[in-house]
Amino acid sequence: MQEDIEVDVVVAGAGAAGVMTALRASENPDIVVAVLEKSMTEGCNAGVSSGSLAAGGTRFQRAVGIEDSAQRHTDDILSNSGDERHRDLVVALCGVAADYVHWIADELGYPMDVGIDMARKGMSVPRLHADPARVGGGPLMTHLRKELADRPNVALLDEAPVTGLRVEDGRVVGVTGRQGGNDLVVSAGATVLATDGFAGNRALMQEFCAELGDPFHGGVSTATGDSIGWLRPLGVEFRNMSACLRHGQITLHGTRVNPALPWLGAVLVNRRGQRFVDEQAHGYSGLAGVIQAQPGGRAVMIWDAEAQQTAQHSEMMRESQQAGALQTAPDVAGLAEALRLDPRALASALTPLPGRRALVGPFHYAWLTHGVLTTQGGAAIDTRGHVLRPDGTTIPGLRAGGGVAVGLAGSDSSGYSSGNGLLSAFGMGWIIGNDLALGW
Ligand SMILES: Cc1cc2nc3c(=O)[nH]c(=O)nc-3n(C[C@H](O)[C@H](O)[C@H](O)COP(=O)(O)OP(=O)(O)OC[C@H]3O[C@@H](n4cnc5c(N)ncnc54)[C@H](O)[C@@H]3O)c2cc1C
Repeated sequence: MQEDIEVDVVVAGAGAAGVMTALRASENPDIVVAVLEKSMTEGCNAGVSSGSLAAGGTRFQRAVGIEDSAQRHTDDILSNSGDERHRDLVVALCGVAADYVHWIADELGYPMDVGIDMARKGMSVPRLHADPARVGGGPLMTHLRKELADRPNVALLDEAPVTGLRVEDGRVVGVTGRQGGNDLVVSAGATVLATDGFAGNRALMQEFCAELGDPFHGGVSTATGDSIGWLRPLGVEFRNMSACLRHGQITLHGTRVNPALPWLGAVLVNRRGQRFVDEQAHGYSGLAGVIQAQPGGRAVMIWDAEAQQTAQHSEMMRESQQAGALQTAPDVAGLAEALRLDPRALASALTPLPGRRALVGPFHYAWLTHGVLTTQGGAAIDTRGHVLRPDGTTIPGLRAGGGVAVGLAGSDSSGYSSGNGLLSAFGMGWIIGNDLALGW
């Protein structure tokens, strides 16, 4: 059976970008919004994320004396990525980050604070915001989706994959989809793509990211890059397609350890007992390539009780503990035995780098490998989320945000700054949704 639906705005995907777009657009009660979601059971990457929102100049930062601004946030991202081509996009996203963090906390009532315990490479001041109990992105997305589902001018359709774009005379006029055996034909004044990237699609990963081999995928299976197939025939430009949010701190159980560990003194040692990197020289995305190059593509991270005291306050450590990925050893001899390493080589590997503190037993450790969480390449967009062709013209009726669109890492995964993923998604959702609420 075919069901025809007519709305003002249709959003493909109820993850971070889609939900934020729909929440903001539906603030205008005269605008009717439909959101089609492939599968809430499978979930979105925002829902399995750590839910850490990067924002500069928030009231949470001010309350603990951190001086920050959208400008400083922009500078940090660009100095990590070197991607001057997307300066305007980074400026636009950083410019709204504090607004939506305040809105989520103050208007939508989701608890938030700034993570002074969340040190990250290239982040000149603490600016990741998360719920105080560090429960991760799941509860945040549940909270936002509930708010959306309660709105009288929003239809949130679950188990309803979008199957294509409807195009008439070069203008996108809605989408096609499926739900419960029905064909959906949705007509809309504005269509927003928020279906994320393609890390869950092996063929596309081979096409664009073959140099990563066949890495562990730490994201959700719904990230199959469906929009790429819809956008290619429209002549859309794709940028930075080989860049990913990689991770070099994935345990052999598929969980992650706290990315702050290197800043708490943790040491990395490979299977030969060698310390092969300054652990603070890379962000976790850049570290992935360094781990990939080690024997067997793995290394052991070692830390002590002092580091554990701070690092344990994270959903990643709780999940790793539960999975059995975290071990302890009383001293260097016990650690060497457990790791099957020469005790003298291990003792030398544990010698602190200049200016760093020495670890003190008992030790905590976890074997780590590398993986991909999400892709960071995607459709070229302007600062309002309009989708671009190579000649700079836009596709009428269409916008995109989050992982569908080009990310902020530049052309290489090592340019990814912590918090970029949700910044692209919530930030562009905020911008697009606000525009649509005003009828733009
Ligand atoms: C383990 C992990 C931890 C992370 N931690 C952080 C973090 O702390 N901070 C940060 O900034 N970033 C983090 N990220 C990255 C961040 O989660 C993503 O960049 C962000 O969620 C992308 O937002 P999105 O809206 O584009 O996609 P998603 O949040 O993945 O939402 C996309 C939605 O679209 C749906 N969809 C897909 N195809 C279709 C279709 N054909 N029709 C309808 N719906 C469809 C999906 O089911 C999904 O619900 C993390 C990622 C992972 C995997």
